[in-house]
Amino acid sequence: MRPPASGRTAEAALLIGADGIRSATRSLLDRHAPTPQCAGLYSVSGVADGIETEPGIFNLTFARNGTFIHLAAPGGKIWWSAQVSSPVQPEPTLTDGEWLRRLAGLYRHERVPSAILDATVELHRPTLMHRLDPVPVRHSDRIALLAGAARPVGAGQGASMALEDALVLARSLAAEPSAAAALAAYEAVRSSRVAKMAKAASVNRDAKTPGRSHGGCATW
Ligand SMILES: Cc1cc2nc3c(=O)[nH]c(=O)nc-3n(C[C@H](O)[C@H](O)[C@H](O)COP(=O)(O)OP(=O)(O)OC[C@H]3O[C@@H](n4cnc5c(N)ncnc54)[C@H](O)[C@@H]3O)c2cc1C
Repeated sequence: MRPPASGRTAEAALLIGADGIRSATRSLLDRHAPTPQCAGLYSVSGVADGIETEPGIFNLTFARNGTFIHLAAPGGKIWWSAQVSSPVQPEPTLTDGEWLRRLAGLYRHERVPSAILDATVELHRPTLMHRLDPVPVRHSDRIALLAGAARPVGAGQGASMALEDALVLARSLAAEPSAAAALAAYEAVRSSRVAKMAKAASVNRDAKTPGRSHGGCATW
């Protein structure tokens, strides 16, 4: 096979594409495979200090401009994540201070998120969130897509779906007489569960955006 970017070639009996939502393996398998689209959300996260919150509780605020998650972290700190609803991409040039001021404006109507943003001591740069239309071709006799490359489940369950996929694929490869039979068995076992989780994740994601999910993003 030929990885599109490098131009190098390699021989293998089996190729497992565990290369995430921007999978190059997906387009090797099917050149008409869907490509990721902006979900109309971006995520910024950070660590705050000096704010009391109850340990063991996952807090989710539905705010006017998105959602805000926070929970108690070790050492008396708070881990937080703002998922901002926006049809435009985050501006890459903003400094951490400018980001904090922007978020403070977006969450100014919410008391707890405002206090946490004000007490932030560490900021993680924004991540643009994507969605992917259903992938019709997820395996052949010698190539399989795993986890986000095949069916991105999104925040909340994506990592556990990736682990489950890997375990089922490993078991299928050990149990079946050929790679082709193993990949067919893997798809048969995983299909309905991952489709159900992906649907739940889409509903969850789209509940954080106004109106329908966006098909693309404009830049600032
Ligand atoms: C903002 C955000 C928050 C999230 N929060 C959660 C959460 O709280 N809980 C949860 O369960 N899930 C969460 N998710 C979803 C979770 O991150 C994904 O479902 C999960 O990472 C998918 O795993 P994966 O192994 O398929 O892909 P990835 O984690 O994307 O891993 C793919 C890997 O392949 C590598 N790669 C890609 N192309 C190539 C190549 N050509 N050659 C070599 N390597 C390559 C990449 O560098 C990457 O390391 C979140 C996602 C986002 C964006």
